[in-house]
Amino acid sequence: MDATLSMVDAVMAGSVHSGFLLGRPPGHHAEHDHAMGFCLLNNVAIATQYLIDEYKLARVAVIDIDVHHGNGTQHLFYDRSDVYFISTHQYPFYPGTGAPTETGTGQGRGFTLNIPMSAGDGDSEIVAAFEQQILPAMHRYRPEFILVSAGFDAHQLDPLGGLSVTGQGFRRIARSIQAVATEYAEGRSVSLLEGGYDDAGNLDSISNYLEGLAQYE
Ligand SMILES: [Zn+2]
Repeated sequence: MDATLSMVDAVMAGSVHSGFLLGRPPGHHAEHDHAMGFCLLNNVAIATQYLIDEYKLARVAVIDIDVHHGNGTQHLFYDRSDVYFISTHQYPFYPGTGAPTETGTGQGRGFTLNIPMSAGDGDSEIVAAFEQQILPAMHRYRPEFILVSAGFDAHQLDPLGGLSVTGQGFRRIARSIQAVATEYAEGRSVSLLEGGYDDAGNLDSISNYLEGLAQYE
């Protein structure tokens, strides 16, 4: 957790534009009062609240590309408009949440975007989700910081996930995310490793993702 907040501090200080934290365990399934699905503390949610408390940011985007829905993150910010939670994930699938009808409540209505994907979907479907839904939503929201729950269990080699995204797909996603960060957030983005359970799949995913981020430095 200290590593996550240190990276957020470094990005806010401008010493680096964007960061990628190769940490484990993952966090996005953890709810505020209990651990769940390999996750103990919800790192991305803690980083989000830290940005709001310490740096007084008004609009933080959390983009979750893990093959599983980020239920914990969604629930923590479900009734708030200062956090825009977006998730692409296989559906129906563990943990069961993430229907497109889950869009937020109260002040948070319209600030949760769930984009379910079908088993077998790959690069073309996830890139289309970014181009047709996520990027337009980000252009409307104008985030001051982008946090990414960067799980790579949507890779075609992953033994848990049923999607077929490749390294090239993750490279294109990273470029899209960093393009939005550059346009609205002075380039500020931090990606936190979530799932990803095949060594070769992780290598292909992470190396391409990092190059995609760097193409926008
Ligand atoms: Zn996962």
